[in-house]
Amino acid sequence: MVMIDLRSDTVTKPSKNMLKAMMHAEVGDDVFREDITVNQLESRVADMFGKEQALFFPSGTMANQTAIKLHTNPGEQVICDKYAHIYNYESGGASFNSGVSCHLIDGEHGMFTADDVKKAINPDAYYYSKTSLVEIENTTNKGGGACWDFNEILKIKQVCKDNNLGFHLDGARLWNALVAKNETTKQYGDVFDTISICFSKGLGCPVGSILLGDSKIMEDAIRIRKIFGGNMRQAGYLAAAALYALDNNVKRLLEDHKRAKELGEALASMSIIKQVEPIETNIVIFELNEDVDESQFTKKLKDKNVLIISMGGGKLRMVTHLDYSNEMHEKCIRAIKTIEC
Ligand SMILES: *Cc1c(COP(=O)(O)O)cnc(C)c1O
Repeated sequence: MVMIDLRSDTVTKPSKNMLKAMMHAEVGDDVFREDITVNQLESRVADMFGKEQALFFPSGTMANQTAIKLHTNPGEQVICDKYAHIYNYESGGASFNSGVSCHLIDGEHGMFTADDVKKAINPDAYYYSKTSLVEIENTTNKGGGACWDFNEILKIKQVCKDNNLGFHLDGARLWNALVAKNETTKQYGDVFDTISICFSKGLGCPVGSILLGDSKIMEDAIRIRKIFGGNMRQAGYLAAAALYALDNNVKRLLEDHKRAKELGEALASMSIIKQVEPIETNIVIFELNEDVDESQFTKKLKDKNVLIISMGGGKLRMVTHLDYSNEMHEKCIRAIKTIEC
């Protein structure tokens, strides 16, 4: 029986054609900067966003951690949402690697306003931690795949400018936001000082993320990547997957979004479900009624070959992706509708 795995969009495996592209990649030693496929990917993505430099990374976590290091000095503070990946799911790396603390904003679905940022900036007194960076996530992971209003991003940029703060985007799922909101890469490149983006989520690559920025801020990025142990050799095999994904797997994200909405509708129609959070992209977060046992529910779905994940605090998550076919989708909706708890 084939498992329908909706725990994350990271569970995808490279398709035959992606593997073919990887097998035929021209590679070299990237530590000598001689891997032409890596170089090609980096310059292509930098151009897409209108940034001067891009650097390929083995993970989104490492790209974010490098960005935090580039923007801050030990003892300083980063402003981010309470749901931020950099705060919740990077093993405390911001404090470990950069010696910074996070000022958490109590936002909505992982998003906040320019006014929230203004209030979160520490006054300029020696006994406060110096605020040096604002970090946002688009789409928001724990926030349920929500997309930011670009106008609010522009307002936050102004606050960053006025207060001399760096502005980093954790764009692990930025591709999803771009297709959902019909926005452009250039728009984002114009606003953020640094952007991290994953190829290993909705785009279906086995490994790979990228960090973008202009030359000045990116000057030390490669050294920090090395310090973090992220230098790679013939990484062009992985970069080839990313190039393939950029050509083939971006527009189709809309299909994932459509299926996520349909899953949400199926869930919302069930009496055992308390609420389904708004669905804008490929993430569905929902809560069960208090009298329904969460582990029972996930187990019963598993018995029907559907895997989902708990986010803690009574929230459950499903994520649609490239390896979630129409056939699986129909089976999954049937499984949801026939579950009895
Ligand atoms: C997945 C993810 C990352 C990076 O995770 P890796 O597993 O290290 O690639 C960063 N931010 C968000 C919001 C994510 O969802």
